[in-house]
Amino acid sequence: MKSRALLILFVIVAGVIGGFLILRDGKAPQLTFYPSDGSVSANSPPNLTLEDSGTGLKDLTVTVTQDGKETSLVAISFPAGTTRRTVPLPLNKLGLKDGPMVIDIVAADNAMLANHAKRKLTVAYDNQPPSISVLTTAHNLNQGGSGLVMFRVSEKVRRAGVQVGKYFFPAFPQQGGVYACLFAFPHDVSPGEFLPRLVAVDLAGNERKSGIYFHTRLKPVKSDRIEINQAFLSEKMPDFQHFFPDTRDPLKLFLRVNGELRAANVATLKELPEKTAGKPLWQGAFLRLPKAAPRAGFNEQRDYYTDGQKVDHQTHLGLDLASLAASPVPAANSGTVIYAKELGIYGQCVIIDHGLGLQSLYSHLSSIAVTDGKQVTKGQIIGNTGTTGMAGGDHLHFGILVNGIEVEPKEWLDQHWINDNFTNKWNQAVGTAK
Ligand SMILES: [Zn+2]
Repeated sequence: MKSRALLILFVIVAGVIGGFLILRDGKAPQLTFYPSDGSVSANSPPNLTLEDSGTGLKDLTVTVTQDGKETSLVAISFPAGTTRRTVPLPLNKLGLKDGPMVIDIVAADNAMLANHAKRKLTVAYDNQPPSISVLTTAHNLNQGGSGLVMFRVSEKVRRAGVQVGKYFFPAFPQQGGVYACLFAFPHDVSPGEFLPRLVAVDLAGNERKSGIYFHTRLKPVKSDRIEINQAFLSEKMPDFQHFFPDTRDPLKLFLRVNGELRAANVATLKELPEKTAGKPLWQGAFLRLPKAAPRAGFNEQRDYYTDGQKVDHQTHLGLDLASLAASPVPAANSGTVIYAKELGIYGQCVIIDHGLGLQSLYSHLSSIAVTDGKQVTKGQIIGNTGTTGMAGGDHLHFGILVNGIEVEPKEWLDQHWINDNFTNKWNQAVGTAK
């Protein structure tokens, strides 16, 4: 009889374990709390993302404890079938004061034996935006040109830089807690709209905006007339046919290349600053292609004509320099190659990163002598001039970019300009390092 009782007990235990194994959803919901830097603000409320791909989310409770007092922040039950939800955590109604606090999070799923995800976060409640101290004084910008501003911030920041209309130029931390930001007076921003603002956002999300003293100089804009004749179209357009296989008419193809392909290539340039170094890799003035005649300048307004008819308009954003055919092209300054291949209208193209978002571009090359990721020194040969891409004759199209925006290259070729607008400011600001 004893053995029979044992057998029954065994069956019951096995049944319970088996049922538990079948019915359970072994995984607790996944919690992601944002911001993750240990500081939160009511100005930019934190949020919580919950995910449960098993039985789905059941409920969530969040409490906040400050000075020993616990307050409920969120208590929700989710409708059946909820697998993912982002929940904002509005801290502004709780009467909290700036300082440390603890956020307690408990989320459950719909399993028979509910799985609980628990998180206890000690965070700083901070509603004070950082203060900004500008260290540089005269910011003189030419239309289409570059500028440097250096500053300090009063606390750790998530993001800092200069905002010019829709353009944001990031700042990079240097030694001694000083931030350096190269920015531009973009060629397509009108003087009345050029209002650079320093922006700093702390780890909790509090944002400070601050003006800087600046002075602008306008540059006369040159116009240029370019004839698109049959000889050019029949020589150049076959190179571009594969971009728009359905457009067989050579002039229509030219217009798509000059418009759509150009826009796509400019968009590619705007992605390259992600790879920039956080400190200057260059030194002194940038080198110009030796023994070369200028053929076109920066911000030239180009009207394109065919048989006396204006068919297109574009802005030329580099220096065209012509030397002997297939002339060796030196790296204008030291840096890291971040692009070394074909780029649409630019043809065979090399882009060198010089740090702080500053990059130089060499296009229409007939050959490329460097590879992506290679470090180069000023004067090192990176390729040869040519006619690849949208080039009528052998020349180098030389460009300078600040955070992906094309700027006047001539400034960077001028040691005097670099001393006044970069080196002296840099030395003065870094000299204040603590
Ligand atoms: Zn050009």
